[in-house]
Parts: sequence; C-alpha cells; structure tokens
Amino acid sequence: MTAINSAQSAGHSKARTIGELKRIPDFDAQSNSLPVKNEIRRNLLRLIERGESLFPGVHGYEDSVIPQLVNALLSRHNFILLGLRGQAKSRILRGLVQLLDPEIPVIVGCEINDNPFHPICRSCRERVAAEGDNTPITWMGREQRYVEKLATPDVTIADIIGDVDPIRAARGGRDLSDELTIHYGLLPRANRGIFAINELPDLAGKIQVGLFNIMQEGDIQIKGYPLRLPLDVLIVFTANPEDYTARGKIITPLKDRIGAEIRTHYPTTVQEGMSITQQEAWTKRDSHIQIDVPDYLRNVVEEIAFQAREDKRVDRRSGVSQRLPITALESVVSSAEQHAARIGERHSVARVADVYSALPAITGKMELEYEGELKGAEVIARELIRTAIGRVFSKQFGEVNFQPVVQWFEAGNELKIPEDGATHQRFQQLSNVQGLMEHIGKLGVDNKKDEAAAAAAAEMILEGLWAHRRVGRSEERGFYAEKPQRAPDSRDRENPNRPRRTYN
Ligand SMILES: [Zn+2]
Repeated sequence: MTAINSAQSAGHSKARTIGELKRIPDFDAQSNSLPVKNEIRRNLLRLIERGESLFPGVHGYEDSVIPQLVNALLSRHNFILLGLRGQAKSRILRGLVQLLDPEIPVIVGCEINDNPFHPICRSCRERVAAEGDNTPITWMGREQRYVEKLATPDVTIADIIGDVDPIRAARGGRDLSDELTIHYGLLPRANRGIFAINELPDLAGKIQVGLFNIMQEGDIQIKGYPLRLPLDVLIVFTANPEDYTARGKIITPLKDRIGAEIRTHYPTTVQEGMSITQQEAWTKRDSHIQIDVPDYLRNVVEEIAFQAREDKRVDRRSGVSQRLPITALESVVSSAEQHAARIGERHSVARVADVYSALPAITGKMELEYEGELKGAEVIARELIRTAIGRVFSKQFGEVNFQPVVQWFEAGNELKIPEDGATHQRFQQLSNVQGLMEHIGKLGVDNKKDEAAAAAAAEMILEGLWAHRRVGRSEERGFYAEKPQRAPDSRDRENPNRPRRTYN
C-alpha cells in the first residue's frame, strides 16, 4: 500500500535540518505537518478512490466492520472496537499503521516526536528558538508511530501519561514542577501517531480521567502539576462488549469522547471461517514429510468452532476465539506428521483421528458454563467434534444410501482401525467394508488408488455414520453395528460405567 505525497517521494530523506527540509523542491510544510487524524483521512480517501484493499488480511468484515471503521476515521474520531476474543481486533488496530505516511520528519532527540514546524515540548521549543534552521531533524517510519498497551489493573498514570523524574531534576538543578524533569509515559510518546489501549475497562478510573483530559483539552497533569501539552494522537481502544457496557466500568465523560463504538463479530459462515483459518494456520510446512489436509477435514475443524459458539455449555460472554480452529488445524497437521514419521512414510493425508489428537488445542479455548464444567472440557470437546463431523457428513452426503455399509456391520462384521498401522494396511481394511469406498468421490477423492486419501475419506464416512448413530464405535475406534445381532457381547462396549480410556 502506498500513500505518499509528492514531497515525500522526492528524496526528502536526505534532509537533516529544518533548513534543508524547507529547501526540498515542492516540499509542502503544510501537508507534511498534518495532524495524524487528517493524515490518515487523506491517505484513506486516496486508497478508497483507487479501489485498494483497506485492511489486507482481515476477512469477513467487508460489509460490516470496515465501513464503520472508515466512517470513524474519515470523521477523525477516536474509536473503540467492541468484540469477543479472537475477532481480529488487534490486527485491525495494527493495520491502521498502513494508513500513515511512510515517513515523517521529527526533531532529533525529542521524546515525543515533535513536528519541526510546530514543536510542543519545551526543550524543542527552546532549541528551535536558539538554533533555527540548523535544528537537526530525522525521519520516523510509520511502524514506529504505533504504540500499544494492554490495560491491566496495575497500569499506572506514570506508565500511560508520565512522571516527574527526580534524578533528572536534581541533575539539571531544576524544580520538580519544571516541564524538563518530566519522564513521559506511553501516550505522549505516541505523539503524532496511534495509541491503542486493549481491554479499556481494566484501566483504573484515575487513568481514564487522565485520558479524558488529554482527549478533551490536550492537558495533562503529572503529580498534580498541570501541563499544557496539545498532543496529536489517534486514540483507539478495544473491549469486551459486556465489560464495556457494565455500569461503572468506564467513566462517562471518557465514553462520551469516544467517537464510535464498532462491534466486531465471528465469521458469519463456515466458508468465511475456513478462509481465515487457512490464511492463519501454519499448515504448509517446509518439511520432508508432506501432509495434505482434505477440505472436508478443514470443514470439520471450522465447524467445531461454530458448534462451540452455539453450545449452551460454553460461555458466550467470553466467546470462542478464531484461534481455536487455527491451532486445532495446526495440531491436526502435526498429528499426521507424527504418525507418518513413526511409520516411516513421506506423504500422508490428515484424517479424523488427527482431529481427536488435537483436543489439547481445543479444550483451553472454551470457557465453560457450570453445566459444561460438570462434564469436563474434554468430554465437551469430543461431543463438539462428533457434532461437527455429523454436520459435515450431512452436507456432503445428504440422502446418499449407506444401507450396504450399515448392513455389513449388522452382519456381524467389525473393523478396528489400527493405531499405528501403515496407510496401506488401513486402506486394505477399509476396502473390505462393503459399499464404503464407492462414496469417497463425494469427499473429493478422485483417484481411488491414492490410498492415503481414500483411507482418510473412508474413515470420515464411518465417523459420519457413527455421528448419526447408524453404526456403533468403541473408544478405541473400532466400528461395529449400532443395533448388533450379537447383543450381549456388543452391549458391553456401550456400558457407560466402563472406565474411560483415551483414544485417538
Ligand atoms: Zn520535543
């Protein structure tokens, strides 16, 4: 993305003093001294006019969040993103950097990045008065103009706004109330840039008041000493919606100064979620073992997150982050890698068993309600996987008749998928199941001789039939008839009091 005005592309970087800056041909002090909100506004409008993508890498917000965000920025508003975890809030805020000019001139050594033409700190004002056009300047890249802070209850005024530095005061023989003894906090250091505070409601009331004063008047108070410091900052926040609207968490005058509240959301369709996950998850690995992840399996992983977000046993106020499907998918690939390495194969296809192996990437990403706590995260996660498989199965197969497969099991046949078997062995066993392999085309397996892909797809079909209670399955991944003919024998397996064993 480029948002450059002509002066800045014209070799300005060579300017080392205010005088040299003024002598750059067609250097426009006016447009190079824009307040940051005007600078963003100007660059944003240009990008929109050129039809460029505004927040590359942010998906699913094109018709909801982004238009609201653009309005806030064009209005020169400070704003807050309200959303649950894992909704790309931080990514959006960091993306604002792309709307800044590539470089801006600042006075050398200034702690608050003073504009050479309008210095606001006392030391720069004194310096420019004394040195005039010989005042040295430097160029600041846009990445340095973004300052971010996670609000926690122990964040202090000194951290955010500043403190009086007694050592500096003593050294300079200055009074403590002298501006030159101030140690600036993060916000003044973000001058001429963007200051982001994550989880605003966790910030102490006293600091919220300090922020309000700056947003309102450009005044800061340090240790009771008022100081006029008209900072030029775009201030942006994030918060969990429920914390933000809870009475007493945010002081009203501060809320009043936040120009826009923009609600983020999770992907609205599974397809959208899949493309975000695909972009974020580390699945293409530079390794001698190559793992393919079939589309239906990516679909299952995404569906787990969708199911979890709907599940009453999962706390909706904290949400289910997009990081759940992302880390789960990475773990699925790793499980397949591990398996392939163990049996000495170079190429493999991830399968349903790998999704169960990804449980540790799933359980920690859901806050459970009381009812869920009683069951335990792992049980809930397994149920979510089963439901997800059932849904993907229905979507792929609809009304396909699997009666021959079901009958094969009802005739007393059983199939135990070996834990550490070679792909060929798995393929052979699954091929024995009557009527099973003829359906794998619907899962995108065109070449039935591709044993890894075929076996993985066949396994998915059996899992789908199990999810819909058409066949039974033991915890050791053995499949058998749901309504067995040899009842006593099989019923044992379904005894709920039987001790649980982990399986993959
Ligand atoms: Zn300065």
